[in-house]
Amino acid sequence: MPLHPFLSREELTANFAEIKPPLRPQEALVEAQRCLYCFDAPCIMACPTGIDVPAFIKKIAHGHPTAAAKTILTANILGASCARVCPTQVLCEGACVLDDRDEQPIQIGRLQRYATDYVSERGLSVLAPPPAMQSGKRIAVIGAGPAGLGCAAELARLGHAVTIFEKQDQPGGLNTYGIAYYKMKPRVSLDEVELVKSLGVELRCGVAVGRDVTTTELERDFDTIFLGVGLGAAAQLGVPGEDLPEVRDALEFIAHLRTHPLETVPVGRRVAVIGCGNTAIDAVTQAKRLGAEKSFIVYRRGEDDMSAYDFEYEHAKHDGAHFLFHAAPLEVVGADGHVAGLKLARTRTVGGRVEIVPGSEWIEPCDLVLKAVGQGKQIEFLRHAFPGLTIDSRGVIARNPTTGQTNLAHVFTGGDCANGGREVVNAVGEGKKAAYGIHHFLTGELAAAPVQPSRLGAKTGPAGSGLLAPIRAHELEAQLKL
Ligand SMILES: Cc1cc2nc3c(=O)[nH]c(=O)nc-3n(C[C@H](O)[C@H](O)[C@H](O)COP(=O)(O)OP(=O)(O)OC[C@H]3O[C@@H](n4cnc5c(N)ncnc54)[C@H](O)[C@@H]3O)c2cc1C
Ligand code: SF4
Repeated sequence: MPLHPFLSREELTANFAEIKPPLRPQEALVEAQRCLYCFDAPCIMACPTGIDVPAFIKKIAHGHPTAAAKTILTANILGASCARVCPTQVLCEGACVLDDRDEQPIQIGRLQRYATDYVSERGLSVLAPPPAMQSGKRIAVIGAGPAGLGCAAELARLGHAVTIFEKQDQPGGLNTYGIAYYKMKPRVSLDEVELVKSLGVELRCGVAVGRDVTTTELERDFDTIFLGVGLGAAAQLGVPGEDLPEVRDALEFIAHLRTHPLETVPVGRRVAVIGCGNTAIDAVTQAKRLGAEKSFIVYRRGEDDMSAYDFEYEHAKHDGAHFLFHAAPLEVVGADGHVAGLKLARTRTVGGRVEIVPGSEWIEPCDLVLKAVGQGKQIEFLRHAFPGLTIDSRGVIARNPTTGQTNLAHVFTGGDCANGGREVVNAVGEGKKAAYGIHHFLTGELAAAPVQPSRLGAKTGPAGSGLLAPIRAHELEAQLKL
């Protein structure tokens, strides 16, 4: 059956209301005053962009949200979106010492949002203007996602001329096109791009490197290149019936709902989502919120094996999403040229390998199938546009973990195309670190000293074990005399 929108604009507005609403001023003050302002705070170490968390919280506690926003945005130009989309439970809030005292960790994400909203709603400019004396160096950034934006902003602050090339009509990468709508509206991402442009960065949207401009032209016109191209299209299921019109890439489905009025977005009555990572969780939840009667995940392994965060899983269940574990798709079943169901089979795991249980097949009715079995890598583009670039066995760009420099001396990288797919804040942090690498490469000067990984506390989240050590905001501020 063809797909339709089901709910009214009012119902959809309610369904897609933000899951983390803003703090009121009094709530922000009370929350900020709970902070212990720890010396060598683990929350700073857990942030891949090194935001000085106690410093900005103290400014809020003293009634200075503008100063707090300056601390945040100086360390992380995408501080407003990170406040909304960061998995804070496993980053800064997961590292908060109050957790050890059986108290609620400080709501760092919501306080960060309070400060960044405060300046953005009032149109206050808190960023120091780029240096009047320019270096004369030109850098091409490929991709206007979080990595490219993080790199471009930092390079502009260091006095370099930066041009970003973005193949999509709109900038922001997955921050604009991929994040769940109830976490962040596209407007926040687009406003942040304006912030980056306000530093003098030139942005050329609708220009794909490799199609509209060649690498040779970039190498002729620029001193260095930053690659922040993210990941590729969704992986295929490889089952019969995959070409039916209601079998879609989950990312395309999410991008569609982020770029169209919600009341026009078609959805199925019964939606099957294949895969069990964070993209699958976002897709199954949003299909349910769009009005699907049943929205369910199909995953060939068990609950303990899923890569989605626990809190995302709980959230999806709370929204009424269902989970079919130990089930594998064998075929998309069609009727009259449309999706009518999914032929599934039970699976079992033998010696780490997933096997189909013979004779266990059944057909699960559905009218929309969303594929979320992982994004492909940009290998084809990279091999074509940058012959000689080393791509590692995981299909990502090999780089120096501290500087982001690749085996091609004038090419640097960061974000999903180099880390294989992590979070927005990792991409910004890696873009920023690559900016320092580029600055050093072009001028011989050191822009900021990275924190030694040995200083990472035992309670730091995954970011603490990441490839790139964070840079502390106050060190950066001191360096740049902000
Ligand atoms: C569905 C989904 C939900 C997510 N939710 C969260 C979340 O809640 N919280 C979180 O922290 N992270 C989340 N992430 C992860 C996060 O979005 C990414 O880690 C982050 O966007 C990576 O940034 P990036 O700049 O490396 O890549 P991208 O955001 O993918 O940006 C790459 C940019 O490069 C452009 N580009 C590619 N090739 C070319 C070319 N040849 N020429 C010009 N431009 C090009 C692309 O169009 C794109 O704009 C999510 C990811 C997905 C897929
Ligand atoms: S660890 Fe917690 S209490 Fe300590 S500075 Fe960070 S947010 Fe405040």
